Amino acid sequence: MAKSFDNRDGWIWIDGKFVPWREATMHVITQGLHYASSVFEGERAYNGKIFKSIEHTDRLFQSAKIVGINIPYTKDEINNSKNQLLEKMNLKNCYVRPIVWRGSNQMGISTANADIHVAIAVWDDWASYFKIEDRIEGLKLITSPWKRPSPETAPSQAKASGPYLICTMSKEFAEQKGYHDALMLDYRNYVAEGTGANIFFIKDNNIYTPIADCFLNGITRKTVIEMLKKQGFNLTEKHILPDEVKNYDEAFLTGTAAEITPIKSIDNVSFATGEKTLSYKFMNDFTDLVNSSI
Ligand code: PMP
Repeated sequence: MAKSFDNRDGWIWIDGKFVPWREATMHVITQGLHYASSVFEGERAYNGKIFKSIEHTDRLFQSAKIVGINIPYTKDEINNSKNQLLEKMNLKNCYVRPIVWRGSNQMGISTANADIHVAIAVWDDWASYFKIEDRIEGLKLITSPWKRPSPETAPSQAKASGPYLICTMSKEFAEQKGYHDALMLDYRNYVAEGTGANIFFIKDNNIYTPIADCFLNGITRKTVIEMLKKQGFNLTEKHILPDEVKNYDEAFLTGTAAEITPIKSIDNVSFATGEKTLSYKFMNDFTDLVNSSI
């Protein structure tokens, strides 16, 4: 059984101070909890350095701006605190989770007098978000009945807690049926993404990925697009219909937690996986890239 997240040794940075892990608590009457009034980040450190730390902090501030939260720290303060926490926790390869939320000053939907809190936690038991044997073998996905909403309905470019309810419902749907993850379509029925990662397809050495116009344009997605273009691959961002999925040879997920993870099947459509495939090569190329970025 994995260690519970509220009962660990170590430190959490919260509102400017390092607090013993078990004491980093908040009151149950908290606006962020009741109304999902919060934004967060997911980052990874490799060899003691957070990959794209500045970009993640920029996105945290951008997410906060989109949902109307004013973070009471500078970007430099957040960046420095992340690094200090890594040192204090003595972790070199770990997951990094900054979160910003509206507190207990005010209950109800109004945000006028809300107090804003910021915390950062790091942990090292997401070394592989999906089990390593599943990453090599490839993941089994099932299409979720839940859809990514229109950008007029949810703040799609904010990494905001609210929309993640759709992801948790989709993931639960998939896991209860024995799948690793769900494929989410969008409100127009185009292929969108996984529950916590973006999706790519391969056909005849050409790479395709859905246009990020109603879901997070992931930092890993952007990194992978750049990496593949540098390798000379043709990369097309386009709307993909669920019916077209069967035409692709391979598929893979990208995300900070998932890194690059090959997909073995979506519903009853199978894809090539294994050492001879491009997605397997890209998975290893990505590992080299993140480990070599000093
Ligand atoms: N989509 C969703 C729903 C996610 O949770 C994530 C992970 N943050 C991503 C895409 C990929 O984003 P990134 O590569 O920036 O981690």
